[in-house]
Order: sequence, then C-alpha cells, then structure tokens
Amino acid sequence: MKPGIKLIISGPSGAGKGTVINRLLQRLAALHEEAYLSISMTTRYMREGEADGVSYYFTDKPSFERLLDEKGLLEHNCYNGEYYGTPAAPAEEAFAAGKIVLFDIDINGGRQIRERYSDAVTVFLIPPEFRLLESRLRGRATETEDKILHRLEIARDEYAAAVDYDYVVINDSIDDAVEELLSIITAERCRMSRRAKLLTIL
Ligand code: 5GP
Repeated sequence: MKPGIKLIISGPSGAGKGTVINRLLQRLAALHEEAYLSISMTTRYMREGEADGVSYYFTDKPSFERLLDEKGLLEHNCYNGEYYGTPAAPAEEAFAAGKIVLFDIDINGGRQIRERYSDAVTVFLIPPEFRLLESRLRGRATETEDKILHRLEIARDEYAAAVDYDYVVINDSIDDAVEELLSIITAERCRMSRRAKLLTIL
C-alpha cells in the first residue's frame, strides 16, 4: 500500500482552490489513488450552488463552539467574522486508512495541522497575478463590497505569511496546477523521512 499524505492546500480567496482540488480528486481517482477531501464546518451563510455536507457542513455559532469544546475539531479559525474548522473524526479515519487527505483551509489552519502532524505537507496556491483576485471575487457577486475588501486585505496578509509553506503552485492553467500537485505528492512519497525504513539492510 502506498503511504498516505496529509496535503494542506491554502491560498487567497479567489485563487481557484475549489476548482483545482476537484480536478485533482478526479485525476487521483483515475490513477486509482485513495483520496479524501476533508469537509470543513463553517458558520458562514450557504452560497448559491453549495449544499450542506458537500461544500461544507453549515452550522450555527453555538453548535460550532460546542464541538470545539468537545475537542471535535483538528483546527479552527475565525475568517471574515465566521468560524471555519476541520472535523477531527473523518480526517483521522482517512489518515488511518492511508489515504491522500486533502485540506482546503486557510494558512492559520494549515499551521495548526502542521503543529499537530509534522509530516503534513503545505501548498500555497496563487493566481499568476495578485490583481486577478479582485476580479475573481467580484465575479462571484455573492458578497457585499465590505466583505470583498476584507477578503482582499486577508489575502495580503496570507501572501506575507505563506513563506512558512513548503510549496507554491501558480494557478495559471488548472491542468498545470494539478500536474504540479501530483508531482508534489510523488516527491513527498520519496522523502527520506518516509522511506528511511527501506534503508534497513537485514
Ligand atoms: P470561503 O468562505 O471562501 O469558502 O472560505 C474562506 C477561507 O476559509 C478559505 O481560505 C478557505 O480555505 C478557508 N477554510 C475553509 N475551511 C476551513 C477550515 O476548516 N479551517 C480553516 N482554518 N480555514 C478554512
């Protein structure tokens, strides 16, 4: 069995993470790789086209805080005034099954997961130019001007904080971004820390 990988994909809002991750999942399925995308829990409103239990588990603040108190989240953050967090149980089950586990979470969450699991791999996904974020966010037309401006402000901070991440993938073309992610998975599997056992000569 190939070893599992914990792959954290962060990036500014509007970088196209969702599209790239969905394409990556399709490619991994075609390669007969066992992959699992962690579904986060959030208190933000449901956007058009989103479904509960698919894009996110949508919940209210008291329920989120209860789960947090019960230690039911691997990490969490408050982003743009709303809670986001990774439910622990399904992710831990996927780790135990040796799957490639993908997390679409922000930098703050990525750091928390890496503190917990030193073998987690972090990727920062960006558009070819920062200014494209603004047009992509406006193109969504789902948020108020205030929220869009705040997302851009957060994006600036995320760019500065991303230096701690292992890899940067540029989402110029979706296919190229997915190929780079597949290469990262392959490279990570070859890491000495994951293969040192194989050097034991009996
Ligand atoms: P959006 O509201 O656009 O769906 O997500 C806003 C930001 O929250 C994105 O950067 C997304 O990656 C991040 N996010 C989504 N789920 C989680 C989570 O469970 N934990 C953390 N820390 N961030 C998350």
